[in-house]
Amino acid sequence: MTAQPSHAARPSRPSPSAAPSPPDHRRLGRELDLFDTDPLIGSGLPYWLPDGAAVRHALEEFIRGSEQRAGYRHVYSPVLGKRELYEISGHWSHYQDDMFPPMEVGGEELVLRPSLCPHHALIYRSRARSYRELPFRMAELGGMYRSERSGVLGGLTRVRAIQLNDAHVFCTPEQAGDEAVAALELIREAHRVLGIRPVRYRLSLPGAGGKYVADPALWERATALLVEVLERSGVPYEAAEGEAAFYGPKIDVQIADAAGRESTLSTVQIDYHQPERFGLQYIGADGAKHRPVMVHRSVIGSVERVVAHLIELYGGAFPGWLAPTQVVLLPLAEEQVAQAEALRRRCLERGLRVELAGPEQGSLGARIRAARLVPYQAVIGPKEAADDLVALRLRDGRRLAPLPADEAVARIGALVDGYAAGLWEGDAVG
Ligand SMILES: [Zn+2]
Repeated sequence: MTAQPSHAARPSRPSPSAAPSPPDHRRLGRELDLFDTDPLIGSGLPYWLPDGAAVRHALEEFIRGSEQRAGYRHVYSPVLGKRELYEISGHWSHYQDDMFPPMEVGGEELVLRPSLCPHHALIYRSRARSYRELPFRMAELGGMYRSERSGVLGGLTRVRAIQLNDAHVFCTPEQAGDEAVAALELIREAHRVLGIRPVRYRLSLPGAGGKYVADPALWERATALLVEVLERSGVPYEAAEGEAAFYGPKIDVQIADAAGRESTLSTVQIDYHQPERFGLQYIGADGAKHRPVMVHRSVIGSVERVVAHLIELYGGAFPGWLAPTQVVLLPLAEEQVAQAEALRRRCLERGLRVELAGPEQGSLGARIRAARLVPYQAVIGPKEAADDLVALRLRDGRRLAPLPADEAVARIGALVDGYAAGLWEGDAVG
């Protein structure tokens, strides 16, 4: 499960957006047709428009690919579960205030899940497990729900329906440290590709009050392991009391928006509690039954929160691989439209998100201005059309010498496939 967002004053960092006021993902989301809400659907329940859905889809594919390469196996599980499931997991007694009330269906009480962990614990438990199968890294981009009060809802950052990039690594106690270090490495690599710079790493510990499960020895053991993970990873961190999950301590990777409001994006947690509650087992090399450890981790947090952050970070000018439209084709006059249409089909075949803005949409200058957030703007004049060339303009104003159209498509495709942060080959990026 994710951490509850926390808000604290932090210094703001300059953003690549040229907007005079601090970038606000709610305003940009509406202006750029990324997402919106409707009172008939309800507050805290945004929907994604085609351009926003394209960004989200690219992000989901990126994270699934990263996880697959890191040895994770993906599952799907339903967003509902019986009330008893959350009584066993401890959510019912420790987290009920954040859960939607149960729905009675056919004499059973079903609840919208507040986290994916219990479903994953049951998937693990559904088969006999041997130590040879461990670590079992189970990942899902799945829905979960939080009954936030309507007063605090807004944009993509405070929502009632959450799509979480989640995973649980079921492993032996000896493997837990290495798995948590690897998870932290996966997080740092994903942040690097996305251009996200965390403001701090936080070791989130329990605080006063009864919201945490009681077992001081397990808390101490999990905390010691997380400290070791942080030291091995070499990241500076700060400890904070009262920020742990109810079942265990965690490493939270904190980001801040332009106004300096801090929130948790990524997390790594060591959990001895839920394997106990669900009676999870594996058969060890000694032939005896043993209890696995659960490492909960989220690399990019919820897609809502990460997309909100990326919208503000880039002011809508996303890296090529994330851009809703990657290529815009600009035939100079009616005579080049057929050539542009043929190139549009070649771009689509290459898997690029492409649009054709023809002369009926105004002067070339007006069309370039309208497409100012599109990373690759391909101008086709009479000379280019005659020789099957394109004159590429990059979003930052650079103009490349005319290229054979197929070569331009291939080189843009390679940049996009490689999650390039810069717009062209050899661009230095911070
Ligand atoms: Zn979990």
